[in-house]
Amino acid sequence: MCCESKRRFLLLYATQKGQAKAIAEEIWQQAGAHGLEADMHCISEMDKYNLETEKDPVVIVISTTGTGEPPDTARKFVKKIQDKTLPPDHFAHLQYGLLGLGDSEYMFFCNGGRTVDRRLQELGAQHFYDTGLADDCVGLELVVDPWIDGLWLALKEALQLQKEKEGMNNAVNAVSSSLSTVPHAVHELKLTSEVQNLKLEDEGARGSDTLSQKLDDINHVAPAGDAEPSLVHSVPPVSQSALNIPALPPEYIEVEFQDTQGENPHLSSLISEGRTFEVPVTKAILLTREDAVKTALLLELDIADTAFEYQPGDAFCVICPNNVSEVEKLLQILGLSEKGDDFVCVKVKQGTKKKGAVRPQHIPERSTLKFILTWCLEIRAIPKKAFLRALVECTSDAGEKRRLQELCSRQGASDYTHFIRDSHVCLLDLLHAFPSCKPSLSLLIEHLPKLQARSYSVSSSDLYQPGRLCFVFNVVEFPASPSRPVSRRGVCTGWLAELVAPLLRPSKSSQGTKGESSSTEKISIFPRPNNAFHLPEDPSVPFIMVGPGTGIAPFIGFLQHRQKLREQHTDWQFGETWLFFGCRHQDRDYLFKQLQCFLKNGTLTHLKVCFSRDSSTVEVAPPKYVQDVLRLCAKEVARVLLKERGYFYVCGDKKHMADDVSDAVVDILSVEMEADKLEAMKILAMLREAKRYLQDIWS
Ligand code: FAD
Repeated sequence: MCCESKRRFLLLYATQKGQAKAIAEEIWQQAGAHGLEADMHCISEMDKYNLETEKDPVVIVISTTGTGEPPDTARKFVKKIQDKTLPPDHFAHLQYGLLGLGDSEYMFFCNGGRTVDRRLQELGAQHFYDTGLADDCVGLELVVDPWIDGLWLALKEALQLQKEKEGMNNAVNAVSSSLSTVPHAVHELKLTSEVQNLKLEDEGARGSDTLSQKLDDINHVAPAGDAEPSLVHSVPPVSQSALNIPALPPEYIEVEFQDTQGENPHLSSLISEGRTFEVPVTKAILLTREDAVKTALLLELDIADTAFEYQPGDAFCVICPNNVSEVEKLLQILGLSEKGDDFVCVKVKQGTKKKGAVRPQHIPERSTLKFILTWCLEIRAIPKKAFLRALVECTSDAGEKRRLQELCSRQGASDYTHFIRDSHVCLLDLLHAFPSCKPSLSLLIEHLPKLQARSYSVSSSDLYQPGRLCFVFNVVEFPASPSRPVSRRGVCTGWLAELVAPLLRPSKSSQGTKGESSSTEKISIFPRPNNAFHLPEDPSVPFIMVGPGTGIAPFIGFLQHRQKLREQHTDWQFGETWLFFGCRHQDRDYLFKQLQCFLKNGTLTHLKVCFSRDSSTVEVAPPKYVQDVLRLCAKEVARVLLKERGYFYVCGDKKHMADDVSDAVVDILSVEMEADKLEAMKILAMLREAKRYLQDIWS
């Protein structure tokens, strides 16, 4: 029907890890309650939509990946709209609203969304609704929820405007053609008023279930007089509010238990990024003393018999399993302890209401239950509100049910942020806190995201140690908290630390004692798509490296490589090299005392080290942080960057460190060039553009 087609809008999502897709699905689901129909597609399905001819409003949800790139699924689309030959009015007919997802811990926040937004604007498209930029660092929902709430009114206005425009066009056509078209114009008028009626009705439409349970109706979890809210306790006003909770997501997965016969799929089948390599761990070295705040380990892998290749500066990914005892615990809570080794067949539920439902790519069609919980699902993921909503239906205790409803409701948004998101509560924590909640395996498959492989920067050179690959990491520790009574280690680093415990030996002087161990432990790795964080092609160009803590990892690879090049090419010119390294204590976590060797043999021209927590007795305290030392070397830094066209590398696990370093560089440039700060910032931007100021920052 004509009227129905006018209520359509096009909904495109570009997802990397599934978040943008999940949000698009939420929009798709809510649309019905607002009398609208979302025609939803992955942005890569370019045969299913056509922006060149699109008349209805377009909603785009797009995430960001890597160092500010749009997700892989958007590459073709972005390439197409970046075409320089497109005229500036190419999309003048298009009205759109865009929601970008990103993480402000990374450089170029929401750059995937920003890139598409900017280009659509350049090509004449118009916003019918302000762009939303959601930050995973503080909680996507802080922007996503209000953005979706406001979307409906904006969409209806856009649709109405479009209809009025069409009405006017038709009216003009009507006047300019013949009298016989008059009934058509009347029809258009009628349609407009239908839209108005629709709008009025929709104001009363329920986008979510409104629950007006009163406190006395239920066996509420908050005891009288308890003023402190917690994960399981609520206090007024939340405990007394009528709640707006999200609509129940439709079930779409069906699990069929089979026998114990067969083999699990190979881990490589879980990875879409390319080839995986199973390689032995040949060495493990504890780089820090036992009393250091963080434990840093260096692992050496034997890649000699594989086709795995790398350059210093590259990163690679480690496929890691979930913690065995957490998997056991989960099986126990699900009442499936006896069935862990049974094969299960995972299918899309017949007749599901979920649009375009498919079995998640990271779940094999047939594998054992333990395999799914160990290798496929991120069981530590922070449960999303839609998951909490679904868990309400599996909870028998009325008080627990109400609290779960509160946590996923609009009224309980700050409780969610505080007690779930900021407390890093995972499914197991929830199941402990809400013991009457008994979800099914299919629900976990529907809601838990893919267990992602973890990335690490290579800390070696193939030239220096042929057939070997080293990397360095801190064992991530999460202390217990009121919402989470048990302390935990990071999924991957905790697993690696346990795996290599038998191999561990303390570092003696530099990279530890020599001698291969007879380890048979293997891990699966695969290359991470290439980046620009490589040594300058011309060895005569000087460079500066800034890498506090484990941020030093890639620079060890750089220096090993440079040392070998110097030995092999005595006639080459080599530029000077600077390393700024920082850690807490000189005698506890100075990761690479081997740096002195690089200094002695001339590979490293200048080594600047600072210790942030060592006490000092001298009158003028030494600098604590790498940015402080940089400022002390202002003239040299400016000379290398400006006069000698050198390179500047920053690596580390903290965005604020990277920001402090770039602030220091701006100040240095400004003072040394006698330019104002804005001018200095422009120079830094140019250096970034020319890939002479390079960052490798992870959080
Ligand atoms: P996870 O279990 O994934 O936890 C990691 C993060 O989740 C924490 O940092 C924290 O933010 C959050 N978190 C989870 N649970 C809690 C909780 N209960 N309380 C508080 N916070 C919580 N790391 C290195 O050590 N060395 C490297 O060389 C290195 N190189 C990298 C290169 C790249 C390109 C990238 C993207 C990352 C790199 N990383 C590196 C980071 C690394 O990939 C992992 O993120 C890190 O090792 C932690 O993994 P994990 O599985 O042990 O921790």
